Amino acid sequence: VGGVAVGRFAPSPSGPLHLGNLRTALLAWWAARGDGSAHLLRVEDLDPSSRPEHEAGQLADLRALGLDWDGPVVRQSERRDLYEDAVGRLDAAGLTYPCYCTRREIREATRAPHVAPDAYPGTCRRLTAAERRGREADGRPPALRLRSPGEEVAVVDALHGVVRGVVDDVVLRRNDGLPAYNLVVVVDDAAQGVEEVVRGDDLLPSTPRQAHLAHVLGLPVPRYLHVPLVLGPDGSRLAKRHGAVTLADATAAGIPPSEVRRRLAASVGLPDPGATPPPLDRAALPTAATTWDGSWVTP
Ligand code: GLU
Repeated sequence: VGGVAVGRFAPSPSGPLHLGNLRTALLAWWAARGDGSAHLLRVEDLDPSSRPEHEAGQLADLRALGLDWDGPVVRQSERRDLYEDAVGRLDAAGLTYPCYCTRREIREATRAPHVAPDAYPGTCRRLTAAERRGREADGRPPALRLRSPGEEVAVVDALHGVVRGVVDDVVLRRNDGLPAYNLVVVVDDAAQGVEEVVRGDDLLPSTPRQAHLAHVLGLPVPRYLHVPLVLGPDGSRLAKRHGAVTLADATAAGIPPSEVRRRLAASVGLPDPGATPPPLDRAALPTAATTWDGSWVTP
């Protein structure tokens, strides 16, 4: 589409967005709109913890902050065929193997996109045929993993520069049958023509394996901008237990969304973007996380 790039925001509807999520949403929108690009909204609702009411609340918050998007909202739950097709192609190329490791290990490696999973040690890749039959007889359904060369892959981030990581045997399909986050994000970004991925920097460690997955699927690798998170005073990811952390909390305290937006922008050294923001100077963003001190919801 004639030089116009495509960006996106991809929330998980497992609860209300906190103001750290909303700052990431603001920066994703700003990066796209500041360049006159299209901006898409993709709801990552494959996980069973997803709820339609959370999606509705998240979209309402984005609208209240003036963060618009193009076209209909895309839901991953409606695109299962696309992901199965990608898994099928990797399978046909001999690039997959079943993994019988425990649910807990698989959950750690796939369900929490925010935590860089430790590299999978390749346990099930080395099973003999007899061992595999033994595991199958146990009756627990396997996950499906990618056979990776175990090499270092480099990606370029507009803020962090060149980022390298060793690509492990990433989960493609969880043992509950759901396609795994690292697969669906790659398939969707390519299918939607996303050219720049803007998201929280907790996903930076997963980016080399996503770039590798794009390579083996013959898909283009997008540009990346990983923005700093907002952390609770205890240094953990911001959460409800840290107190008043949502747009609704700010509204209840008498702070209108326009003022919240101004404070979100100010926290990364930016002026209020207005309705048509100027180009975002990506490299000028801070890399350090912001520690939540409640000031965004204090009149
Ligand atoms: N859905 C993920 C989240 O809520 C973001 C995935 C991405 O932007 O690649 O953090």
